[in-house]
Order: sequence, then C-alpha cells, then structure tokens
Amino acid sequence: MLSSERLIQARAARGRGALGESIDHYLALVRGDRPTPAVLAEAAEVIGPLRPSVGELLARKALEQQPLLPEALHAMADSVARQGRYAEAVPLFRQAVAQSGRLSELKDAGTPQEAQPWRTRYPTVACPACGTVEGTLVHAGNASRVQRCYGVVDPVKLWLRCDDCGLVRVPDPPPEDRLPAWYEAAYSRSPDTHNPPAMGPALYRELMQGEAQVRRLLERFPHVRGGRLLEVGAAFGLFLAAAGYQGFDAVGLELATAAVQWGTARLGVDLRQGSCPGDVPAGDYDVIVLFEVIEHFLNPDAVLADLARRLRPGGVLLLSTPCLDHPYHVAAGYDDPMWSVPGHLVYYDRATLRAALGRAGLREADRWFSDRHLGSVMVAATPV
Ligand SMILES: [Zn+2]
Repeated sequence: MLSSERLIQARAARGRGALGESIDHYLALVRGDRPTPAVLAEAAEVIGPLRPSVGELLARKALEQQPLLPEALHAMADSVARQGRYAEAVPLFRQAVAQSGRLSELKDAGTPQEAQPWRTRYPTVACPACGTVEGTLVHAGNASRVQRCYGVVDPVKLWLRCDDCGLVRVPDPPPEDRLPAWYEAAYSRSPDTHNPPAMGPALYRELMQGEAQVRRLLERFPHVRGGRLLEVGAAFGLFLAAAGYQGFDAVGLELATAAVQWGTARLGVDLRQGSCPGDVPAGDYDVIVLFEVIEHFLNPDAVLADLARRLRPGGVLLLSTPCLDHPYHVAAGYDDPMWSVPGHLVYYDRATLRAALGRAGLREADRWFSDRHLGSVMVAATPV
C-alpha cells in the first residue's frame, strides 16, 4: 500500500472510531520510509492517549526533525502528562499554544493584552479550604481540547492537590472580575451546550430527572414536604418546576439572563437573576439545592457556610458535584472532562467534600450517584 493511501485509511478509521485499526495504519506509516514530521506528530496524537510512551517517542522523533511543530509539541505534552509527568508537560503545552494557530485560542482575543495568560499576571492562590499554598500538580492539559478559552483565560489548565488537606484546586484561577467575560463568551458562543433543552424528549428527560431527585429527597426527609426551597444556579428552572409541582414553594437564582427569561416565561417558575450569598431572597429555607455549582466558586467554603446559616433546623442541603473518587472518574482518569477550567475551580472527593460540609456546620446524611453529570456525586446534608 502506498503511504499516501495508508494515511487516508488511517484517518478514515480514526474518523469512524476504529482506533485499533487506525493505530495499525499509523504504526505501519511510521515504520516505513522516512516518515515526515507531520505524519509522526499525527501518529503520536492518535496513539498517545492509549500508549503514552509510544506517543512520546513519536512526538520526540517529529521534534528532532522540526523542533517547533505545534502538533508534535502538543502530542508530546499530552503523552508526557498522561504518564504523570505534569511539571514537564506544562512548558510543552505553553510552547504548543504559543506556536499554534490551531491550539491557540488566544487568537480569538479582542486585544493583545487580553490574550496574555492570566498565570503570568496574577499570583497563585492558596487552598480555599485550609490556606496552604503548597500542593502537588495532579493534572495538566490544554483546555481547548475540552472547553474553549475565548482568549479570556489561559488555555493551559493546571490542577494542584493541597499538601495539607487534599482538596484539588486550580492554583491560578482568573480573578473573579475576569470570569464574567468567560461565561459571557461561553454562553453566547457555544449555543448547543447553553441553550434550553429542545421541546420534546430532551426537555421531558430533564423534568423527569428533577422529579426523581425530588422524590428521593422526600423519601429520605419526608418532613420537608411543602417547605421553602432555594436552588442556586438553577439554569433554566427545570428542577424548580419539578419541585414546585411536588408542592414546594420554590425559588431559584441564576446568573445567565437568557436562562432566567426562558424559565420564567416558559415554565412559570420563580427564577431570579443573581448568585449567592448576595442575592438570596430573605428568610430561611427547608431545602437548599446546589447542582453542579459549588465547583465553580473561588470561595466554596464561604458559600457553604452562608447557605448553611439559611437552613431551618431540620433543613436539607442537596448538593451535587464532580467527585474525584467516583468510579466513573477513576476509570476516566486523565481524560475526565471535569478537568475543565475556568468553569471548574475546585474538585472534591468524598473525604474533602465531607470536610467542607463539616466546616460549614453540616453533616452528610446521605450520598448517591448523581445523574446530573457523568461522575457526579449527590450529597444530602443537614445542620449539625
Ligand atoms: Zn488545603
């Protein structure tokens, strides 16, 4: 087979998800006569996720011939990170971003100043749980693989495990005043992920999910039936609608204007624009709900403490968040899509989440797998 034909076959197999077949073609290509740096880099990119040491070797060969080839730099960074050598991966990712039009979403930036990675301009933050600055790098990657950066944030994502308390965090998050620009871009420029669910099965499925969560809550805590319920980060108000249908007096807070308008107009729920703690409507609550929200805060402890104070005696905080030791994440490892910046800033496991709840004066009463997201845990906590 001609190498040009083989390359076509390799790409076609990759395109239809036949990775084993694709890898066989790429291996034949790189064993053939003088493969070009581009072919070596492409092979490294395909093989690296499954066999990182081979990916690294191929990328290294490509870089020997063409030292700044962005695809090879990226494949090398990715393969090195997959082998746990995060500190080595970080400068490679940065080099790849700097060299590449494809990888560098910095090209989308409005001004050169905006395009500067925040890392160089803002200090590393301490652990939001215990204040320790030291930590161990546990993940490095290029955010544009999972999530776009819109020229607003650093495309190289890093995660650190606190040496003291074990909480995993983004060590250099963008300052709070940069986050709205990213969220705005994310909402306006990725319409598929941020639109309301389509009328039909998608919408119905979300309502059914909400209803199942309400039912589970009522089975475990029947005394809260019909009480006041607050949802922070209520998105389009689907859970609020299900809770209201089951008799709760439900109110939601949401930052995105479009979501607030849709939920109010289409579902008739009490959905208000805002975040916590500043915008929480007055009074205490029987149930406070935080689905896939706490990991977005720079100061999760303050948020939990504030919400805990708003719970009535016997009240319940229902919280779901990506969980590092959830079996799904254990299996997904490096490819876990929850390693995404800047949307996610802290990453709990069962122990660090239990500790965070404890600091807020709450005790975990129940825990189960959440269906809100792949690999999320759902925890119900009550005031101590
Ligand atoms: Zn800590």
